[in-house]
Amino acid sequence: MTQRDYAELWQRAPGGHLLLDDDGLITAVNATFTGWTGYTAEELLGTPFPKLLPIGDRVLYTTHSLPQLMVSGRIAEASVQVVGRDGSRHPALLSATRVSGPDGPETQLVLVDAQQRRRYEEELLAARRRAEESEARITRAEAELAELVHHDSLTGLLNRPGLLRALHDRLGAARADRGDGAVPTVLFIDLDGFKTVNDDLGHASGDELLQVVARRIRSASRAGADVARFAGDEFVVLDDVTPSGAARVADRLLDLLAEPVVLQGVEVVVTASVGICSAEVPASGPDAAELVLRRADNAMYRAKAQGSGRWTAHRPGDSDPGADRLVLLEQLRSGIRQGQLRVFYQPRLHLPTGRLSGVEALVRWEHPTRGLLQPGAFIDAAEQSGIIRELGAWVLAEAVEQAVRWDATGGPAGLQVAVNLSARQLADTDLVPLVARTLARAGLPAARLVLEITETALMSDPDAALRSLQALKELGVLLAVDDFGTGFSSFTYLKRFPVDELKIDRSFVTGMTTDPGDHAIVASCVHLAHAMGLVAVAEGVESAAECDALRALGADQAQGYFFSRPVPADDMPLPIVVA
Ligand code: C2E
Ligand code: MG
Ligand code: MG
Repeated sequence: MTQRDYAELWQRAPGGHLLLDDDGLITAVNATFTGWTGYTAEELLGTPFPKLLPIGDRVLYTTHSLPQLMVSGRIAEASVQVVGRDGSRHPALLSATRVSGPDGPETQLVLVDAQQRRRYEEELLAARRRAEESEARITRAEAELAELVHHDSLTGLLNRPGLLRALHDRLGAARADRGDGAVPTVLFIDLDGFKTVNDDLGHASGDELLQVVARRIRSASRAGADVARFAGDEFVVLDDVTPSGAARVADRLLDLLAEPVVLQGVEVVVTASVGICSAEVPASGPDAAELVLRRADNAMYRAKAQGSGRWTAHRPGDSDPGADRLVLLEQLRSGIRQGQLRVFYQPRLHLPTGRLSGVEALVRWEHPTRGLLQPGAFIDAAEQSGIIRELGAWVLAEAVEQAVRWDATGGPAGLQVAVNLSARQLADTDLVPLVARTLARAGLPAARLVLEITETALMSDPDAALRSLQALKELGVLLAVDDFGTGFSSFTYLKRFPVDELKIDRSFVTGMTTDPGDHAIVASCVHLAHAMGLVAVAEGVESAAECDALRALGADQAQGYFFSRPVPADDMPLPIVVA
């Protein structure tokens, strides 16, 4: 910066700048200051600075003392009033420094417009307040998110991730030498009659029951305990207690839970089974939390096996099956999200012509370590835990989309695709909209979809099933009774169910060529189907002899290893010839 640049900068600096000689006389003044006061620079040069202050103040700020006090560092800034040529007063903040001028040392005074300064400060303060507020908002949002992520919205209890975090924290903090023998302990609680309530009284009552149960579990636990809804109707109490303390909590829990609950005017009793496991302290390994939970879950299963309303504790010698239910469900949950599920398709034939009439979608699980798993290995567990909803929705979407893909790519066109529905899905109030959405999204006509529901699922709550079936029927989808003959169908209901097909269970088909009893059952199933105007489908046809026998009985369609095993979508269409 040149001398001139500097001089110009000095002239136009935002504050008033003055130089005083050692007698306190003004030797230089900048344009900002002359602008404030209305004096010219010439008028001010040689004037003692205190002359620009109100008369009363001049005494205080004598020629030397004020700048000297400032220069010595005893006063940093003084609030003054500068009197302008017309008598107007300009509040300003004055500071002074010692500088070296061409004729020896000088004192530089800087005057900042106090009002402007206050405005800046206010703005600064407001900006800081805004920043603090938005920071607080962010913190609040983070806390809310953490709440949401770690809590179950229905009951307000911790959810599975929340519980796992609490368990990790407790295990990390646990010490063996606590003295009172209290260690982190999991009480795994499973309701015994929940499914019936949900099926009989509907979801709203099921939800209400879960809320009542949650409150009771809370009140049976000690103040410092963590209480979680682990999944569906499974709850967990986590507390630092001794074994006898845990037993007392379990007793209290079972007592409280066994009290009747009134739902929609109906008194229901749900009992529970409880499994207890205390952590080994100090906890070892990253899987310590999962291990405690798994052991408590296993203990709960042992309690359940002994009858409802009991608790059992894990004992050191108890086995730790690696592939138990909990691990399986955990893996299934993540497996679904990671795309490990597959749908295989098994063809179904029109018996009189031998033509392919449709396919049944059958789920498989490409397990990362155990290979391709059949549904028998995981469907029951998925059904009990409610994961079946997610699984079922995925299979439905996949199968419906596949039917459309086959149409488009010259595969077996116009096929009907059959998808299995579990009892849990049938009871789901979202089922009908889900099916409607899925069909609409893929663009598949409803009449191309068959939903298979087992006889047992239908008969567990026929009235509720009837309502669901009617709603599905209104969409235009076809309905089949799966595994027919294995349940205890009431013919009154069967007649009222708006179904289109009976799928005669494999067990009868398998025996029909060797066991006259089975042959008679298949025959009457076919007759029954026809008498009700339904399509008779035989499952599990494994031989030419069975195929012939079915044709002779007038069965309409057949499915079985004799024609094809379930295969991946790309292996369709199959060269199918009926013997
Ligand atoms: P399902 O609906 O009765 O399906 C027929 C089962 O019989 C299939 O077993 C099929 O592979 C098997 N099968 C077909 N033909 C023959 C045969 O000739 N001989 C023998 N021995 N077996 C035959 P898979 O795929 O293991 O499925 C078993 C059950 O799992 C199904 O029975 C169904 O109830 C359930 N399932 C399969 N996929 C799903 C699904 O996506 N959702 C639901 N909820 N359940 C499913
Ligand atoms: Mg089926
Ligand atoms: Mg079946």
